[in-house]
Amino acid sequence: MNYQMTELARRAEERCRGRFEEIDRIAFIGTEKVLEAFAEERVQAGDFAGTTGYGYDDVGRDKLERIYARVFGCEAALVRTSFVNGTHAIACAMFACVRPGQTMVSITGGVYDTLETVIGKRGNIPGTFADYGIGYQEVPLKDGAPDLPAILEAVKDPTVSCVFIQRSRGYGIRKTLSPQEIGDLCKAVKEVNPAVVALVDNSYGEFVCEVEPVACGADLMAASLIKNPGGGLAPCGGYVAGRADLVERAANRMTLPGIGGECGASLNVNRSLYQGFFMAPHVTAQAVKTAAFCAAVMEELGYKVSPTSDEERYDIIQTIDFGDPQPLIRFCKGIQSASPVDSFASPEPGDMPGYESPVIMAAGAFIQGSSIELSCDAPIRPPYTCYMQGGLTYESGKLGILRAAQKMQEAK
Ligand SMILES: *Cc1c(COP(=O)(O)O)cnc(C)c1O
Repeated sequence: MNYQMTELARRAEERCRGRFEEIDRIAFIGTEKVLEAFAEERVQAGDFAGTTGYGYDDVGRDKLERIYARVFGCEAALVRTSFVNGTHAIACAMFACVRPGQTMVSITGGVYDTLETVIGKRGNIPGTFADYGIGYQEVPLKDGAPDLPAILEAVKDPTVSCVFIQRSRGYGIRKTLSPQEIGDLCKAVKEVNPAVVALVDNSYGEFVCEVEPVACGADLMAASLIKNPGGGLAPCGGYVAGRADLVERAANRMTLPGIGGECGASLNVNRSLYQGFFMAPHVTAQAVKTAAFCAAVMEELGYKVSPTSDEERYDIIQTIDFGDPQPLIRFCKGIQSASPVDSFASPEPGDMPGYESPVIMAAGAFIQGSSIELSCDAPIRPPYTCYMQGGLTYESGKLGILRAAQKMQEAK
C-alpha cells in the first residue's frame, strides 16, 4: 500500500476512534448474551449431530431456537435452513399476522423490493395477499422518517391487524430505525388500536445495537441467516422470532398446520448455525467497523455519506453519494478486487429484472449472495448512490475500502 493510502487510512481511523470503542462495547454485550444463552441451554457436542428424513426430535435444532429466543428477548424463535432466504422468513411472518379480510399497513413506506410479490404489488401471482383477499396499505415516509400522524390515522381502520416496519434503510433514501424508535412506534400504534400486531423486517440489524426490536415492544421479527445472525458461517436460511403464538403461525405457514416447527431435518448444518450465532456479535461488529471506516475514507475524499463516520448506527449499511457514475463504478471494481473469492472479476453495470436503471454489484463471498461478507451495489442513476455492507473481518473490509479508494484516485 502506498504512502498516500496509508495516510488516508490513518486519518480515517482517527475519525472513527470513538465509534470503534462503542462498536466493541456492543459486541461484548452481544457475546455475553450469546454465551449466557449457550450455558443456560447446556450446549454440548451432541447438539451438532442433526437429523435426516422428517427431522423429528432434532434436539440441536430446537435448542438453537431457544437460544435465539433468549438472546433476542423473544418468547420463541424459528431458525431454519428450510427458509430459502430472508424474504421467505419475512413472508411467513407476514402471513402469520393477517387473515383474509384483514389489512397489513407498512408504516415505513413500501416493503423491500423482494417482498412486493408477496403483497401482490407486481402482477397476478397466485398466493399473494391480493389473491387471498388480504388488504395492504402503506404510509410513505416523510422526510425519510415515519410519518406518525398519518400512521395513527391509518391504523384506526378496524380491519388493520398488522403494522409492518422495515428497520434498515434497504435500498431507500432514508435513515435506519433504532430498536427504541421501533418500540416507540409500536407503543403509539397500539394506543390507537390495541389489536394490532407489530412485525419488523429486522434485516441487517441483529447485534448492531444492545437489543432487538421485539425486546423494545414489537411482536414479531424476521430476517435472513446469511446476513448478521449467521455470523458468516450459516450456509443459508432465515429466522422468525417473537410472540410464541405468532411464531407458531409462521411455522405453520413454513411447513403446514399440524406440523409447524416439529419437522425439518437439520442435516449437517447445526454446527455451522451454532458457531455462526456464536460469532455473530463479533462479525457484525467487524462489518459495522468496515462501514464506519468507509464513511470516514469517503468523507476525507469529499463525498456525502450516510451515516457519517461519527453517527450512531442501527444496521450495517453504508451509503456513499458519488454524484457521478465514474467514481461509483471504480469504487465497485476496487471492492471486487479485494474480495477473497472472484477477485479477478470486473463488475460492470447491467440490467436486472425488477430494476429500472442498470445496476452494478460487487461481491466475492464464500456463501453465495451473503451480504454479511463485503459487498456493494448501486443503481446507475443520480445521485449515484452506492450501498456498501459487510466485511467478515475488519482488516479485509478496510483493505477493500482502501483498494476502492485507490481505484478512484487512479482515474484522476
Ligand atoms: C436482504 C433484505 C431482505 C430480504 O432478505 P433476502 O435474504 O435477500 O431474501 C428484506 N428486507 C431487507 C431490508 C433486506 O435488506
